[in-house]
Amino acid sequence: MITPDWPLLTLGVGLLLLAAVLRAYHRRRYGTVSPEPVVILTYHKVQNRLELGGTWLTEAGFQRQMGEIRRSGLPVYHLIDYLDSLARGMTEMRGVVLTFDDGYESVFRGAWPVLVRYGMPACVFLVTGFMGRTNDWDQPLSRGTFRHLSWSQALEMGRNDLVRFGSHGVSHRDLTSLSDGELERELRESREAITEKLGRTPEALCYPFGRSDRRVVAALSEAGYRYGVTVTSRPGWNRRHPLAVARTAMYVTDGTRALRIRLGLESPERYWAEDLNNRMINRFTLMTALFQRREPTRNDP
Ligand SMILES: [Zn+2]
Repeated sequence: MITPDWPLLTLGVGLLLLAAVLRAYHRRRYGTVSPEPVVILTYHKVQNRLELGGTWLTEAGFQRQMGEIRRSGLPVYHLIDYLDSLARGMTEMRGVVLTFDDGYESVFRGAWPVLVRYGMPACVFLVTGFMGRTNDWDQPLSRGTFRHLSWSQALEMGRNDLVRFGSHGVSHRDLTSLSDGELERELRESREAITEKLGRTPEALCYPFGRSDRRVVAALSEAGYRYGVTVTSRPGWNRRHPLAVARTAMYVTDGTRALRIRLGLESPERYWAEDLNNRMINRFTLMTALFQRREPTRNDP
């Protein structure tokens, strides 16, 4: 006679219950979700070095994801070209946009060769006060030291227009926590630095930690930016608002299946779980912002 494996059965039932609770929570808070026709993906580091934080992909993992996008046949657009098209009312587009936050050197070493091989455009958001330096702004949680791109590496990547650059502020501080003067300086100085060093004025800014509010958005527009990109949108937000464009972040735990679901290529019934996963990880990154607030002057370059 077969006796049931009670611990395994209990675990199975428990997991099913947990999934049901999470599903109900997600639906109640975010409603029915589906991928945007053009999915803006966010990457950070592309490296083979192990790191506790989740904001990285191995070089092989990144290559697999780009290969998956290539095989899908989805076109890859420059961020600004896509947003300009949206602004002109072209809403029928379908495809992918690639963005990299923080401008790490590993993008030059691990991602750029792949982008060149596939001819895929991307936007890299630079922290202009840390070019060529290590990520001291990210130290409170001590997840390791990582070098940012130098200006000459950025210049080389921008040579053939495959990679363009946006601003991620001067010092990667939570813009909502700054005084009016500091906020204006972060927006203006980073824009001026990119224009001067790379010869092209950035049209978009990526909010550090995805944090923005009405005051920050107004200051962004005032400083001459046309677009602001964030992480996941809040309930009730217009995910395509030009100054609060939502993106989908890819972390170390996200493989090609997660990518395919997020791009709407398979299992639409599982999209909610990917959306929830993305939101939960984004919440963790806010912890760094909270630590930074305690030491507001430490990261001034
Ligand atoms: Zn960042």
